[in-house]
Amino acid sequence: MGDLHVHSLLVTGANRGIGLELVRQFLGMPSPPAWVFAACRDPKGQRAQELQNLASKHPNLVIIPLEVTDPASIKAAAARVGEHLRGSGLNLLINNAGTAKASSLDAETLENMTQIYTTNTVGPLLLGQAFLPLLKKAAQGIPGSALNCSKAAIINMSSSAGSIEEVFLWNYGQVVSYRCSKAALNMLTKCQSLRYREHGILCAALHPGWVQTDMGGSGSQKPPVRVDESVRGMLKVLSSLSEKDTGTFLDWEGKVVPW
Ligand code: NDP
Repeated sequence: MGDLHVHSLLVTGANRGIGLELVRQFLGMPSPPAWVFAACRDPKGQRAQELQNLASKHPNLVIIPLEVTDPASIKAAAARVGEHLRGSGLNLLINNAGTAKASSLDAETLENMTQIYTTNTVGPLLLGQAFLPLLKKAAQGIPGSALNCSKAAIINMSSSAGSIEEVFLWNYGQVVSYRCSKAALNMLTKCQSLRYREHGILCAALHPGWVQTDMGGSGSQKPPVRVDESVRGMLKVLSSLSEKDTGTFLDWEGKVVPW
């Protein structure tokens, strides 16, 4: 396993669940990043209380307003991050924000399909585009051609629910709009890896496990994986990613997930 020495990163959907725990664990590293940008929809609201408490203790944590379905909000977030970084690049973009709606195939709607796709798939596309100049700058700042997450990377939080071969937890919930959005996110990840390799940016999709968060625990069963375990596992995976892993789909334990 390599080391993860990230100078700066941005996590979307950082006010709760996996996003908040990613922020916590990055801040708790022996040599924490100089900048942790925690993006959420309503930085001053009640739902961002835990993030606000963390920011009062960690001067390297900056809360950034971001609605991932709004292109203007994405552009404004990239501009704000750029101002803070003052000429240096962003090493790591974690597209974590996501949404799901309980639905069966029979009851799925145009509205659901569109809303979930816009959040889970179009959001990460637009974020990748908006942050590309900062990611490129980070890659240029680190000599050597090898790809890794300490240099420059886009990590898309996907799900085994989007795996066509595995069709994770079908009997637990059909959630067709969610499955389709994550299958499409996987394709986006592959496309980003092909396009951004020349800029020195690694791109990968991760499945965090079935995790005890608002989303993971919204059904009748308790998910098996604690959020701290999932994130610890994913950070270990991030630290191990190299050239050969760009354009792949891995789970929180580092195992390859079939497309
Ligand atoms: P949660 O529902 O607990 O948190 C979702 C986060 O995404 C919240 O911070 C939420 O913000 C944010 N978000 C949702 N929509 C938007 C939007 N339009 N703009 C900005 N932020 C938004 O989910 P998890 O922490 O469990 O999931 C995180 C990621 O992991 C998701 O992409 C999910 O699909 C994926 N995943 C989770 C699994 C699990 O078992 N938990 C399994 C597989 C994948 P707000 O508070 O404002 O709503």
